Amino acid sequence: MDGLPETGVTTLKGVGTALSNKLSRLGIESLQDILFHLPFRYEDRTRVTPIGAVRTGDSCVLEGEIITCDVAYGRRRSLLAYLEDSTGRIGLRFYHFSKAQHHNLKNAGRIRCFGEIRNGASGPEIYHPEYTRLDSAAAMEEALTPIYPATEGISQTRYRALVVQVLEKLDGNPLEELLSVASKYNINDAINYLHSPPPHANTDLLMAGVHPAQSRLAFEELTAHQISLRIVRAEIQKQMATGFQPPGTIYQQLMSSLGFNLTRAQQRVAGEVTDDLMKAQPALRLIQGDVGSGKTVVAALAAAHAAENNLQTAIMAPTELLAEQHFVNISNWLNPIGIKTAWLSGRVTGNRRLEELERVRIGDATVVIGTHALFQKDVEFKQLGLVVVDEQHRFGVHQRLALREKGVTGDHSPHQLVMTATPIPRTLSMSVYADMDVSVIDELPPGRKPVTTTVMSDEKREAVINRVADAVQEGRQAYWVCTLIEESEALQCQAAEVTADELTSLLPDARIGLVHGRMNSAAKATVMNEFKVGNIDLLVATTVIEVGVDVSNASLMIIENSERLGLAQLHQLRGRVGRGSTESHCVLMYKKPLGTQSRDRLEVMRESNDGFYIAERDLEIRGPGELLGVRQSGALQFRIADLLRDQTMLPDVRKVSLELMTKQRNKADLLVRRWIKDPERIGQV
Ligand code: ADP
Ligand code: MG
Repeated sequence: MDGLPETGVTTLKGVGTALSNKLSRLGIESLQDILFHLPFRYEDRTRVTPIGAVRTGDSCVLEGEIITCDVAYGRRRSLLAYLEDSTGRIGLRFYHFSKAQHHNLKNAGRIRCFGEIRNGASGPEIYHPEYTRLDSAAAMEEALTPIYPATEGISQTRYRALVVQVLEKLDGNPLEELLSVASKYNINDAINYLHSPPPHANTDLLMAGVHPAQSRLAFEELTAHQISLRIVRAEIQKQMATGFQPPGTIYQQLMSSLGFNLTRAQQRVAGEVTDDLMKAQPALRLIQGDVGSGKTVVAALAAAHAAENNLQTAIMAPTELLAEQHFVNISNWLNPIGIKTAWLSGRVTGNRRLEELERVRIGDATVVIGTHALFQKDVEFKQLGLVVVDEQHRFGVHQRLALREKGVTGDHSPHQLVMTATPIPRTLSMSVYADMDVSVIDELPPGRKPVTTTVMSDEKREAVINRVADAVQEGRQAYWVCTLIEESEALQCQAAEVTADELTSLLPDARIGLVHGRMNSAAKATVMNEFKVGNIDLLVATTVIEVGVDVSNASLMIIENSERLGLAQLHQLRGRVGRGSTESHCVLMYKKPLGTQSRDRLEVMRESNDGFYIAERDLEIRGPGELLGVRQSGALQFRIADLLRDQTMLPDVRKVSLELMTKQRNKADLLVRRWIKDPERIGQV
């Protein structure tokens, strides 16, 4: 029999084409992939909670009798059942259901179910609980239950059953040990432990992500990342680039026409960039700078520098809205000094697109701005000298390289700048960005009004809603961000829909819009535009609004369940307000009870607007003993590693990566393939 990395998922019982297609969408093709799709948290399902004792936000096992089960007609049709025990009653709501499920649940009698308690339309509710009938006398769980990320379309129960099958095969067919780590766990023990923790596992350690079995794998994952980045860097360094002449008159013209002076930090970074661009090796530089620190103008200066050398620049942003914003701003700077711009996005179609493509091809347009539409096949540059990628964490290295490829002629490559507002403590950035040089804009332009932040329990929700009403009355706009950490994006989006419904009925005078990740990009862009032009007063959103949207009239942001988000992400979200001249506010709502650590973290948000300070404090507070049980969601998407938590490993990771790359290159490649299945993931940090 082949090893697990080569064996396809269809060899498992019950996996046909439909399921294997779904798995494939998660990047899971082989049995090894199943093993490395690791639980992102654990749930304690070893006890039953009386229904009368549930609290919103808790995840509980409940047992009781189904007393009714009917279709409910609201903004969206749903199936609503009531479960009752001797202490109380709770709603179970399903937005996706079949006739058969309706029938079965109605007649289910006694069931045991599990899910998170929500404040639903009919009182406490669970959306899409997992449940089993109790007539089959199902045994209670004896150990922690692993929860897997992003199993969209595959229930957790079904996914767990697949994992169990693979673990059985692992016995006679162990994974290869690719690196030697001083750990009590070898790779196979560690994998076994995490998918199926024994009954008396140390829950606290597991929930905090610092169990030795987790550390063992985190080390391996960090090593795989580090290696993949070094491979990219080595490839790029084999190439040559056109070294630019020193900046001349056009560059100076742009400087003097800006209408403001660069901050000292901008000057320093712009200087580092020009130095890079004058070298005959392709630059690969990351510009890190807090939200609003003025990265765009540094990119525009670099584009002017390229134009002086008769070379084109491509500037890519992750969303239509952001790209359009760049197009407008950068054109306003560059067109007056004689540099022509072009605009390419998914919405530029037909003849308009053909015209723009032609202008790019013959070099009539010198600076081309757009979304990932920029690296499609039919885009041809006359002579591309510089690639700028904004908010790079939204793109993988793969996409970034595809754009760079457009400029490759023979052994010559364009220079690359990538920009990000994701603050990473300086101590970490060397490891995180092993493939790049890093510059930091650590200063904001003068005169910014910091956003005032308040922290409030969700018991004061009514007061918060009144505040939104007041803001709307005064003609200001607001964001209401619904955050839920869920294995399913669908559930997050449903929660946002429920909130939008609720706010619509409580705020009859406000024009309310909704954006979430399940909407297609055209629909999202439409709503965002309506908000931008002021036709929507209150935008209810999931965290999809995170990146770079500039609506200067929006001066209030409410963030629900803020205690559940990473500080980096909160900071990014908050950066959406405070962009205009009015005083801006952010309300961080939390659910009681709030632990001391969470309290401290929210306090950091209250006292500071500095992304780097926030990141460093976050690290200090969470330390090694983070007890949230959920991984920091946001930019740093690893399967199991957490850069902040695991940073003490980094020096060893660096050593081991170098060793593997130079002495055991085949193992290095196997390691990368094991962890970085989907090449899009490479470098998404
Ligand atoms: P970010 O780094 O978040 O991408 P932007 O580049 O969008 O920030 O800059 C935010 C705003 O600040 C823009 O309106 C920009 O024109 C302005 N800006 C940039 N640099 C300066 C400066 N040195 N002085 C004053 N305003 C500036
Ligand atoms: Mg920006």
